[in-house]
Parts: sequence; C-alpha cells; structure tokens
Amino acid sequence: MGRRAQALPVISRWIIAWLLWWAACTQQLKGQVTTVTWYLPMLQELGGIADTATVEHVRCLLGARRADTLYVVVAWAPRMAFSSPVVAKPTEECPPLLTVGEWHNHLPHEYAITGEQLPTHRTAAEFCELSPIDRRRERVPNPVLFQVISVTKDISCAWVLNHEGRYERVSDWPPRAP
Ligand SMILES: [Zn+2]
Repeated sequence: MGRRAQALPVISRWIIAWLLWWAACTQQLKGQVTTVTWYLPMLQELGGIADTATVEHVRCLLGARRADTLYVVVAWAPRMAFSSPVVAKPTEECPPLLTVGEWHNHLPHEYAITGEQLPTHRTAAEFCELSPIDRRRERVPNPVLFQVISVTKDISCAWVLNHEGRYERVSDWPPRAP
C-alpha cells in the first residue's frame, strides 16, 4: 500500500486527499441517486479501453455522493486476480470510502465454456446489459450504487441502485457535453 501511494504523482495525492476530505464531510444519505456527474473525457477513455479489449477490464469509479447526486472524478484500476472475455475478478476491493461506482467492459461476442468465440446475431448494443453475475452484486452487504458497462467507444450503459435495492437502468445515458 505504502509503495503504491508513493508511486502516485503529487497531483493524484492531492486529488485523493481532497476526495477523502469531501467524502468525510458528505453525509451518506439514504435514498436513490438520480443524477450522475462525471468528467466526459474519462468516459471516452474507458470506451477506448473497451474498444480494443480482448478480456474484461474493471475500474473503480472514485468520487463522492451528495444527496441524490454522484460525482465521479477518477477511474482507478484495481489489481486483477483473473480476466477472461466473459468475467474479470479483482484481487482487491474498490476503496470503500471513495468508491461511488464500478465500470467494466463487455466484449460484443459470445463464448463457449472453452473460451472459443461463437457466432452471434446480437448487435454490440445488445451486449450492454447486466449479466446474471453483475446482478448478483445487488445481494452483497453494501452494493455499489452505480454500475457502468462499455462495449465499444460509442456504446455504454449505466445503472443505479433504486429504493428496492435493484439496479435500474439510467435512461439518459451516456451523459452529453453541455
Ligand atoms: Zn458484466
């Protein structure tokens, strides 16, 4: 942990210090998130990862929550235990105090259990869906509030946890530049 923290550039440490302060000052209100605000170039960058990926990638979305609004500031790459075209598993949890959501990519193909790519009639957009494994995350003790999936640089989709503790698709996604 110490070694990784030292490897961060000074500016990143300032951002993380500011986030920690902000998270500490921000009350964790119950109720549904209705607005997600984030830095658009970050969404494009994540789309770029999805576009060239051959396996699933995961990013912790760090930021803060204020009432019904999530602010996403940094996409942080956890160390991975395992990555394949259909599943990815980090070795470490996303930082609990700072994490407001998680991103991962889906490849626009279907695969056999052996890892072999299968022919499919589904369009890339149809792979922008929570899988049964992604849905299982509704039932963990502290489910992440917000999930984003990218399939290509232009296709992404998002869900927020609703009052019933179910992931509900964000209808006006992706966010547009003002
Ligand atoms: Zn998934």
